[in-house]
Amino acid sequence: GEWDDKHRISRDDVVVGRILGEGFFGEVHDGVYKSPTGERTRVAVKTCKDSSAEVKEKFLSEADLMKNLDHPHIVRLIGVIDVDPVWIVMELYEHGELGHYLVEEQYCLSRATLILYCVQICKALAYLEGLNMVHRDIAVRNVLVASPECVKLGDFGLSRYIDEQEYYKASVSRLPIKWMAPESINFRRFTTASDVWMFGVCVWEIFSMAQQPFSWLENGQVIIHLETGSRLPKPQFCPPTIYSLLTRCWAYEPQGRPGFSQLVCSLRDNRPAWEKERAH
Ligand code: ATP
Repeated sequence: GEWDDKHRISRDDVVVGRILGEGFFGEVHDGVYKSPTGERTRVAVKTCKDSSAEVKEKFLSEADLMKNLDHPHIVRLIGVIDVDPVWIVMELYEHGELGHYLVEEQYCLSRATLILYCVQICKALAYLEGLNMVHRDIAVRNVLVASPECVKLGDFGLSRYIDEQEYYKASVSRLPIKWMAPESINFRRFTTASDVWMFGVCVWEIFSMAQQPFSWLENGQVIIHLETGSRLPKPQFCPPTIYSLLTRCWAYEPQGRPGFSQLVCSLRDNRPAWEKERAH
């Protein structure tokens, strides 16, 4: 892609710090970015260890999608350095991945907070739906925790616009089978409705404090299981009203699933009901 001045930044303005983790293309570091106006921001810097033109293009395609996104619950791109070594610079969310955070804070998180995270992720997905974008990798490992009251959906590495075709047909094999809708497993068909299914699995992860979905099955057994009508069980801390929403997200037929805007409302509507329930 071509990078405009708004998103191309200078390496001199980035100070790189310690390693945060290993990404698909290379190490991710923390750091500080000084904007042209002199403002300092803590950042995450994604690096790419392979310098071939094709790999660099794949690596930068994530930033290319992110540069058009502006939402309070989506990871914010600060800019890219598009000359070797190529870097993607994003806002830093210091509490890290939601999956790890749920495990560490499991005894401190209230159900109200867990629902808040679900609503925030759902709002981010409703926003993407409005842009005709499918995320394709909705899971707690791809949500970052900005503060105890704010999460951000990230990892747009598998995201695609579905403008021309009505769905995106995947060619890659590195797919998260246990999160995927039946039509995605069977026909590699990805739509907003398949994102809704995945969102349901992500909500299941949140209420099970980041347990592995279908840990008791092999990848190859998952589709057989789904086609016999079996679904993930209700997590212990999941309110029954929310679990019934999940089972609707897991309707076998894509058209039988609710939309994200409807889910935002249903999740919100649920809050007072079970908070009352808990008070008894
Ligand atoms: P994969 O596709 O295998 O998930 P990736 O290339 O998308 O890898 P990430 O998983 O996004 O890479 O990043 C690797 C590590 O860096 C993760 O542990 C993640 O927690 C951390 N990280 C990435 N971005 C940020 C950020 N903006 N703030 C804080 N930590 C981050």
